[in-house]
Amino acid sequence: DNEEVMPEKDSEYDNHLIERLQKEQDRITSIQEMRKLLPVYSYRNALLEAIREHQTLIVVGETGSGKTTQLPQYLLEDGYTKGGKLRIAVTQPRRVAATAVAARVADEMDVVLGKEVGYSIRFEDKTTEGKTVLKYMTDGMLLREFLEDPELKKYSCIMIDEAHERTLATDILLGLLKDILPHRKDLKLVISSATMNATKFSRFFNNCPIFNVPGRRYPVDIRYTVQPEANYIHAAISTVLQIHTKEPLPGDILVFLTGQEEIESIKEKMEQITEKMGSTIAPLIITPIYANLPQEQQNEIFIPTPHNCRKVVLATNIAETSLTIDGIKYVVDPGYVKENSFVPSTGMTQLLTVPCSRASVDQRAGRAGRVGPGKCFRIFTKWSYYNELELMPKPEIVRTNLSHTVLLLLSLGITDLINFPMLDKPSISSLSKSLENLYLLGALNSKGSITRLGRIMCEFPCEPEYAKVLHTSATHDSCRGVLDECISIVAMLHETKSLFLGQKSHPGSHIVGQVDSDHMLYLEIYNEWRNYNYSRIWCQDHKIQYKTLCRVRNIRDQLFKCADKLGLVAVNETVRREMVDPSSHLAAKITKCFISGFPMNVAQLGTTGYRTVGKKSTSGLNVYVHPSSVVFHQTRDAKKPSKHVLYQQLMLTSKEFIRDCLPIHKESWLGEMVPQLFNFSKKS
Ligand code: ADP
Ligand code: MG
Repeated sequence: DNEEVMPEKDSEYDNHLIERLQKEQDRITSIQEMRKLLPVYSYRNALLEAIREHQTLIVVGETGSGKTTQLPQYLLEDGYTKGGKLRIAVTQPRRVAATAVAARVADEMDVVLGKEVGYSIRFEDKTTEGKTVLKYMTDGMLLREFLEDPELKKYSCIMIDEAHERTLATDILLGLLKDILPHRKDLKLVISSATMNATKFSRFFNNCPIFNVPGRRYPVDIRYTVQPEANYIHAAISTVLQIHTKEPLPGDILVFLTGQEEIESIKEKMEQITEKMGSTIAPLIITPIYANLPQEQQNEIFIPTPHNCRKVVLATNIAETSLTIDGIKYVVDPGYVKENSFVPSTGMTQLLTVPCSRASVDQRAGRAGRVGPGKCFRIFTKWSYYNELELMPKPEIVRTNLSHTVLLLLSLGITDLINFPMLDKPSISSLSKSLENLYLLGALNSKGSITRLGRIMCEFPCEPEYAKVLHTSATHDSCRGVLDECISIVAMLHETKSLFLGQKSHPGSHIVGQVDSDHMLYLEIYNEWRNYNYSRIWCQDHKIQYKTLCRVRNIRDQLFKCADKLGLVAVNETVRREMVDPSSHLAAKITKCFISGFPMNVAQLGTTGYRTVGKKSTSGLNVYVHPSSVVFHQTRDAKKPSKHVLYQQLMLTSKEFIRDCLPIHKESWLGEMVPQLFNFSKKS
């Protein structure tokens, strides 16, 4: 053979090299050798030296170069944990990334997950006190640790990973860390980021050095659509099928979508199509990945694709930089992302599907060039790329409700919010809106200082609004005694996205009798399951995800423990013993508790359907009850809709949908629970 012949052209030479590189990769399979192949490995010593010399270091590198999995291990190997006395924390913006990466690192270190290496995400702590030295966690969890340990004394190194994502929690962490670094000279801070934003971080930390890890990135051929696509879902499916039938194997496909529902529906459609095509095409393995996917299924994306098959990964932007999936050669990118968007004038948060930034779609395209030259199919035009897309994504801090963060900062004793160090400052209107909101909930007094209730709300491992619901249910004169029920509902509301198997039919109606709200439906489902001794079979019979209910049970336990610690359980039980019949007025009491926690989430029936209400200044927004809601079916069954309805979620997709709805049967309840906001009760 002519292996030794020098090819004539550059590109052929590239191909030759690439082929050899790939063969090399195929040959080396053992995990330790894989570690040595990662781009960061050749910089191991230089990195450690830079960290020794500088308190803060920014590490920039291509996705997949080994920042998240390797850097913390290097720090561990370099003795930063002082033989187990201190810890290393690595934060991630996403839960899925925290758990997946921790599992991978435990594997690489050949230890049991939850011992030396663990993770901590909300409602799930897989660490062992006194044993865990390397802790992967969501940025929100580290933020909570500041409440108990304001100088993070347990830690010797903090790695703020995926900092370019600029989540609210990451931004606040960076501000808090900037504050404590001068007092904790021995604490090392590593900020790692994909290739965007690095200089901004450096400037924020007094021009600290930036360490660049040159990545291995093969060329990616980018294609655009000639015309704008009216239906990107359609286009995405046909692009995938085209790749599958025309492009050679091996070579997996990664499709970027906006959320669970979209992913599940596309998965279903593609399965139908490939089933019809049968053996005329190579087998196509379709694997979804999104935040609420059960953990067992999450691991499937990492299973190597069998010979002669193709894998297509349907992902949210979790696969943009947080997770690296080996073997991807094709990226299909409609260019959309789902984002929270807070409108200070109305005080409402909407979940919006918006076009990605250029930086994001470039990151996405890069995913195709990790194992070899790749192709990226963009389902938008080149013109749109250059003329319509924003350069950078907007940091969360400028587009989200800041109430929770403000409350946390206040409880940490940081009262000068305007001068708190932040990479990007939120607008004054959004800050004052959150103060107003916290005042409405009773977390702040009229002087703007945090109240006892505000501190209690901070203690709970859930949003302060839910904490307010629980507090009300145990203590408020006219509705106390329903703490247990409210805890169940709040726990269920955290997991409703993955509750039902096969979502098409009216969920839950076959399980419980007539209920008139989603909240009561969730309560009844939980109670039924408990009555059946938490049975797995009961779940199967009723098409409910057993694992989800187990998570609900766990969340319930944690909320209950917290309520107990705060003395709320004792108060509640005293009331309950005095009540003639605890089940009387149950629904009314529960409704009132939720009004006290979510006064801003109320819609009123008008001539054109429901409109949101809030402060007088707001004009309100037309909203529609989502078809998955119990309330939707009641209106359809021609029952008289209630004048007010409370909702837990507002989504903007094809329409403004409200989900998880609770009808408010008496208008007077609004004024009774939140007189500052609803003063119309006197008129009627
Ligand atoms: P970076 O943080 O720089 O993007 P990572 O450290 O996440 O890079 O990834 C390094 C390598 O580890 C990649 O090749 C990736 O495929 C592999 N890897 C990471 N997580 C897993 C996992 N859960 N299963 C298998 N491989 C993984
Ligand atoms: Mg990473």
